[in-house]
Parts: sequence; C-alpha cells; structure tokens
Amino acid sequence: MRFETLTVHTGRPIEPGTGAVTPSITLSTTFERADDGSFRQDIYTRLGNPNRSALETALAALEGGKAALAFASGQAAAAAVLQSLTTDDHIILSDDLYHGVRHYAQEVMSRWGLQYDSADMRDPTNVKRALKPNTRLVWLETPSNPSLKIVDIAAVAEIAHQAGALCLVDNSWATPVLQRPLQFGADIVMHSTTKYLGGHSDVLGGALILRETSGGLEERLRTIQTLGGSVPSPFDCWLLLRSLPTLPIRVREQSASAEKIAFYLNEHPRVEVVHYPGLPTHAGHEIAGAQMSSFGGMLSFQVKGGQAEALAFAGRLNIFTRATSLGGVESLIEHRASIEGADSPTPPNLLRASIGLEHVDDLIDDLAQALET
Ligand SMILES: *Cc1c(COP(=O)(O)O)cnc(C)c1O
Repeated sequence: MRFETLTVHTGRPIEPGTGAVTPSITLSTTFERADDGSFRQDIYTRLGNPNRSALETALAALEGGKAALAFASGQAAAAAVLQSLTTDDHIILSDDLYHGVRHYAQEVMSRWGLQYDSADMRDPTNVKRALKPNTRLVWLETPSNPSLKIVDIAAVAEIAHQAGALCLVDNSWATPVLQRPLQFGADIVMHSTTKYLGGHSDVLGGALILRETSGGLEERLRTIQTLGGSVPSPFDCWLLLRSLPTLPIRVREQSASAEKIAFYLNEHPRVEVVHYPGLPTHAGHEIAGAQMSSFGGMLSFQVKGGQAEALAFAGRLNIFTRATSLGGVESLIEHRASIEGADSPTPPNLLRASIGLEHVDDLIDDLAQALET
C-alpha cells in the first residue's frame, strides 16, 4: 500500500463488535482475566492499551519500521533512548539540535556517567573524528533546529555502524511524508508527535520507531516505556491517530507555502539571510533534495539589525502568532535565542517560522507589512 493509504487504514480496523468505523477510546485502566489467568490483549493501561497499540502500529508502518513505541512527549521518547545506554557510554549529538535533548544529556544523564560530544554533522568526517571506543549512539536532526542544517543520513549512519554505534534521527520536522530515515540506514527514528504528526497544537506526545526488533533494543526501550511510565493517555493516542490521515496533505501544503515564503524573504532588502534547504544557495540543498521529497514547512531567517529589530518585527505581524512549537495548522513565529537561554548559540536576530495552512499570499502580505513599517 502507498503512504497515503497507510495513513488512513493502518491501526484503524472496523471494530468487530460494533462495526464502528472510527476507533473507540478505551479509558479502562485494567482488563479482565479469565479463570486460568490468561488475558485477551491488555492487562493494565500503563503496560498497554488498545489505542496505544493502534497508534504504534500506524507509526511503525509510516516510517517503514518493525516496531514503534509511543511516549507522553518527545522528551520522554528522547530520555528513554538515553536511559537505554549504560554508564560510561559515549554519544555524539549534532551541534544544532533541539535544545531539550542537549540539556537532558547535560543535566540528567551526565550524573549517570553518560558522556557526550557535539559535532557539526554537515561534514560527516566530523562524526568520525568525534568517535571514541565507547561511542554507542550518534544522534542527528535534519533539517536541524533552528538553523535548518542538512545532514547526509546515509553517510553518518554508515560511520556510526562501522564504529558499532546506532544512528538516531529526530524526524519531527521532516515527518515520514518528506523523509524516511530508516531507508537511509538509521536505526531509530524519534518524533515529537506534538508537532506535525499531531498537527493541531492540541496533543503532546513522542515516539520511537525501530528499523529492527532483534538485538534487544526494543525490549530495553519497552521496559523503560512501561516501567518508567511516561506513556500517552488513550485520548492522546486517539487524537494522534485521528491526525495521521491528513498528515500528507497538511505537510505538502505547508512545505509548498514555506518554499514560496523562503524565496520571498530571500529577495527582501531587510532580511540578512534565510535558512531554508529549498533555496539553491543553501549549503545542504543537494543532499536535502536527495533524501527529502520536498523541503518542509519550517524556515528561519535573520532580519537586519539585532535582537531588538527581530523582536519588533515579530511584534508587527498580525497573522503569525508569537509562540513556541511548530507543525500546527496556524503559522507561528519565534525568537529562539530567548527561549534557549543564556548559553544559546542561536544568533540574536534569528526568527524561526512554522508555516501553517493559511493562504500563502496572506502570510506573505503579513510579512511584507511587518518588514516595511
Ligand atoms: C519539540 C521537539 C522535541 C521535544 O518534544 P516535546 O514533545 O516537546 O517533548 C524534540 N525534537 C524536536 C525536533 C522538537 O521540535
């Protein structure tokens, strides 16, 4: 089956008892056992629930993986991966990645003995250089947050595998509509499903999708998921599953609009630089073109001037809302340096935009009036 058909039908069978076309929400936390102690499907909702199983089945299918695990947030999914490592393991993180992952490695996992280094993975030889005998995991994001750097997934996965390490790709921005990292050799795909997969800024969630189920990784992660207990509620799983059939059309439209906006901003005299892999001048344009089917709904740009000019410009926008997060139906704009804190490497005049489903000409008009006043 093709991707669009999978999004509509995987994890959504007609319910045998009632004929319901849309899945029911199973709120029960516990499930009846038979006289011999056996159970039908689930025992207790922290361990498993019909809505979570349906969501996990769908997510595995969309990324082309053998298994998926759903979590209460993207950070819970990321934390589970880090907790699956052992004391004194070493990991390599992309130098430009979701700040919460770096902070978790730094503030929590370092106390457990996890060592990490960062590398600019646009040049895969930097990954090779950062390898240590105890490197177990290489963690990358492409396009990256917030600078839209592009990393060659196949090249980095190969370097990781040669060193006996796993390769994880945070695919929250590209989504499986535009990029399927497991096909390029990644072992784990991570999602903040809060973003495009949820798509409506109304549900928090995370997921891990695995290329293989052998090797013990799935069991280790499953144990952390069910014993750690950072699981999504049945309603959250239901909302996410409901969002998946519209994922392809949402993401393609958002990506087409972002591309038009990137070209518009790129020509504007008050804009210093636009970071968008769809621009032919972007350093990662060719690699992105090879591993993505289009360039995505996220872009960032630096307005001329400093932090004050960037904040004032964002304040003049009427359709874009100044808020964090991304991937929803509404366009959002954010000054990343403010949210990332004092140690942020993000330039002070950089704004990050998540392009929604408004008419692209209205968005361009809004940007134009805010740039020209
Ligand atoms: C938002 C985000 C996360 C964190 O996910 P939460 O759902 O907020 O916990 C991780 N990675 C990326 C790329 C994100 O955008």
